[in-house]
Amino acid sequence: MIIAERKPIDEIMAMLTGVKRLLLIGCKGCVTVCSAGGEREVEILASLIRLGRKKEGEPIEIIEAALTRQCDKEYVDAIDQWDGQYDAIMSMACGVGVNFIANLRPVATVFPAVNTTSFGGSQLQGVWTEQCAGCGNCILHLTGGLCPVARCAKSLMNGPCGGSQDGKCEINPEVPCIWQHIHDRLHRLNKGASLTAIMPIRDWSTAGHGGPRKTVRDDLTL
Ligand code: SF4
Ligand code: SF4
Repeated sequence: MIIAERKPIDEIMAMLTGVKRLLLIGCKGCVTVCSAGGEREVEILASLIRLGRKKEGEPIEIIEAALTRQCDKEYVDAIDQWDGQYDAIMSMACGVGVNFIANLRPVATVFPAVNTTSFGGSQLQGVWTEQCAGCGNCILHLTGGLCPVARCAKSLMNGPCGGSQDGKCEINPEVPCIWQHIHDRLHRLNKGASLTAIMPIRDWSTAGHGGPRKTVRDDLTL
């Protein structure tokens, strides 16, 4: 899932300078699961904003809502009902949701309320760790299902580097060296011999550095 966390309140308040009527919208998808931008977080942020503005002597009207998803036009259209009732929209969805609303509302001011950090999985209750960087050219079949692109601090294709020690990464003794784990796992699976093959220099063009990527479902023709 996509992981995000709410921006610091001071940053949010600074974005809203001069805004008198705000549409604050959360998303019931990933940001609800990671408690960054679901219904409950919309309610909490709305209270914080109202309180902050009251202290400044600049009250603000806030319409609160949470869409089923903010990355789908079908659901974003639900905000039509508030047309003319706000000066700006603040989205509590991931960056995809914010972009989507900006695409669909060309003349609306749209602010992000969260920082989108990664694609990850739940490690402990309330803790998520990055697992995939959406590189567009998955190599997990070569690395025992563990991703060096997202989980190695240097995104090395042939590791570990010289900084790996006791299974930990040199950036932080609490961070596993994923390349050590890849080696251990492949040996456990009797596939250790595959580690002698040098992986070629990676072509990062699939990772989106050449512009936005597009995915079309096989059964559709555009
Ligand atoms: S290799 Fe690429 S697509 Fe596969 S898990 Fe890693 S970042 Fe994601
Ligand atoms: S110690 Fe391991 S995880 Fe850290 S940068 Fe080196 S190879 Fe990557």
